[in-house]
Amino acid sequence: VPQTPPPARSATERKRTVALTHPDRVYWPDAGVTKEGLADYYAALWPRMAPFIVDRPLALLRCPEGMTGPRFFQKNVWKGMNAHIRALDDPADEAGDHLIGIHDLDGLMGLVQSAALEIHPWGASCRDWERPDQLVMDLDPGDGVPWEQVIDAAQAVRARLQTSGLTAFVKTSGGKGLHVVAPLKPVAEWEAVKAFSKNLAQTLAADRPDRFIATITKSKRRGKILLDYLRNQRGATSVAPYSTRARAGAPVSMPLAWDELGAITGSAQFTVGNAAARIASLRTDPWEEFHAARHPLASATG
Ligand code: ATP
Ligand code: MN
Ligand code: MN
Repeated sequence: VPQTPPPARSATERKRTVALTHPDRVYWPDAGVTKEGLADYYAALWPRMAPFIVDRPLALLRCPEGMTGPRFFQKNVWKGMNAHIRALDDPADEAGDHLIGIHDLDGLMGLVQSAALEIHPWGASCRDWERPDQLVMDLDPGDGVPWEQVIDAAQAVRARLQTSGLTAFVKTSGGKGLHVVAPLKPVAEWEAVKAFSKNLAQTLAADRPDRFIATITKSKRRGKILLDYLRNQRGATSVAPYSTRARAGAPVSMPLAWDELGAITGSAQFTVGNAAARIASLRTDPWEEFHAARHPLASATG
């Protein structure tokens, strides 16, 4: 009896099997994005997004009534949670809290069903809780900083990372700034990765005190870019590549190629509405090399 060949991997991955209740519920009224629209956006991006959100603790910004309603940041599982969302137990946590995880596309659809309008993973996977597999430098422009200076800052961070033998990738945050992300072989532990990123931020701030600051003192931020290295500590999160943001216009955190950065006009340029056209128009995934470009952190000298 001839057997039906299994469906292609991507077709399987893209199939949505979780039934959405109230698919027409509006999540972003200004952009006209519904629950179903969000599910379709994520289903299309699933193959690219999965490695950044599967099997790692996730913090969620949940907005049960959509972007304009009440919101809360959630790090632990909850009663009545969608069955495709899984509990993850932090081996170092003595309080016995259960963190939020997903294993598959159904899990992501469970997050959509739960009105998680932002997905913020840890920088480590559950395969190795103590050793981050990415370093994130979060560039936060203060009031009055021209966008071109945010681009310059990303390039300066990239250069320092390259000097240390790391490969850097850049994405919009979907908010105000950029995130420069270096994939790591999970070798160094949290303390070392944090010390390295702190040193990197402080070195850049010492070189260009007119442009950068490395400490979170709001009063001194006007006109400068905060090099927020504190995404790199145990339990800290940063928004996932391709995650939507609960902000006006349904912006997303969009991975970019370095050679297109100069043409980007702002952090919220890419949205649920225009992401599909952008991705279709690109020949390749700008972060295609991310997982092959993992290097161990050699030292904490920056
Ligand atoms: P922007 O470009 O506007 O700075 P961003 O995502 O980088 O966007 P930040 O304010 O710089 O925003 O970073 C805040 C980070 O802190 C988030 O990425 C999130 O993962 C984390 N975070 C921790 N606690 C919270 C909270 N209660 N609410 C929102 N974010 C939180
Ligand atoms: Mn930021
Ligand atoms: Mn920040």
